[in-house]
Amino acid sequence: MMLDKQTISSFFNQISALDNIVVIPHKDPDGDAIGSSLAWLQVLSDQGLRVTVVCPNELSSNLKWMPGANEIVVYKQQQKQAADILSNANYIILLDFNALTRIGEMKSLVEKSSGKRIMFDHHPFPDAGVADVMVSEPSVSSTCELSFSVMETLGWAVSREAATCLYSGIMTDTGLLNHNSSRPEIYHMVARLVEKEIDKEFIHKKLFYSNSLNRTRLFGHALCNKLEILPSQRVALIALSREELDRFNYTIGDTEGLVNQPLSIEGIDVAALFIEKESGFVKVSFRSRGNLPVNSYSGKYFGGGGHKNAAGGEFNNAPLSEAVNLFKKTVESFLFNTSKTNEEASV
Ligand code: 5GP
Ligand code: MN
Repeated sequence: MMLDKQTISSFFNQISALDNIVVIPHKDPDGDAIGSSLAWLQVLSDQGLRVTVVCPNELSSNLKWMPGANEIVVYKQQQKQAADILSNANYIILLDFNALTRIGEMKSLVEKSSGKRIMFDHHPFPDAGVADVMVSEPSVSSTCELSFSVMETLGWAVSREAATCLYSGIMTDTGLLNHNSSRPEIYHMVARLVEKEIDKEFIHKKLFYSNSLNRTRLFGHALCNKLEILPSQRVALIALSREELDRFNYTIGDTEGLVNQPLSIEGIDVAALFIEKESGFVKVSFRSRGNLPVNSYSGKYFGGGGHKNAAGGEFNNAPLSEAVNLFKKTVESFLFNTSKTNEEASV
């Protein structure tokens, strides 16, 4: 990995103990976004610096146990406090996203703030001008992996608590070292995190095996009653309406991981999940195998982006059925038309 150590260390060297640092993960934060944010909180606080994490919306319950999570200011619930914190920020650290649209309404607060910005991210195609210093490494598994490299490169102490957060982000973004984990270096990093005496079993239990009964039954309903296969037999989709979410007492995070399930079916190369978060607003997730760029597809039809094999987007001001119809009409020709696929995949 090519880290510009000089640029990164001079960014941090200018910070003094009286400065306010604000750390921001993306909206609907996953384990990597929260793990990296809390690791930066721990590591910089341990150096005597003043740090606050401001998150656009609430955390899913499988992330709330992480060290420092109860100190996070949630913009959606504490808008005035979040706005004050951002207007007093001297430095802002943006984690696990590379376009300011990914933080929703907080975008304008960040743009208004005079705080100097640094970004650490692993998604391809960063927007220009997101931060003064943009550390973008699409080759790494996660922002947690990238953050740990930076912390080690700069010679900073990484506590057991920070290691717990970093390990969590690596495990959630790789699906327990299932994908994006072919580079040997990641295993050396995991070993160094385990050497910090983290409680690996506890972490796995909290992240992956603490589901509510409702979430489990919602998965059952989705897989049994709602899974559709498109004519190519290579694409699966699940669409869940607001009424269905309500029936299973949906709370944030309950559909996390559902989009991956159809990819375990032999022959399925593309999976999509449509969630009607509220009437007229559909959140979409895409997953694929191999050289099928769902980030380009999402960018073209659902105003989104992400990684080649894991992307997301949105569909606004229209019913769920319209989002699903658009997908059914366009996905196979876009992804399986080989000339286009090769062209997109080579980006
Ligand atoms: P998920 O499907 O788990 O929500 O997201 C998968 C990937 O796509 C993540 O890397 C996430 O950052 C990205 N992603 C999800 N939603 C959006 C979106 O609306 N816009 C963009 N640009 N990326 C998204
Ligand atoms: Mn990530």
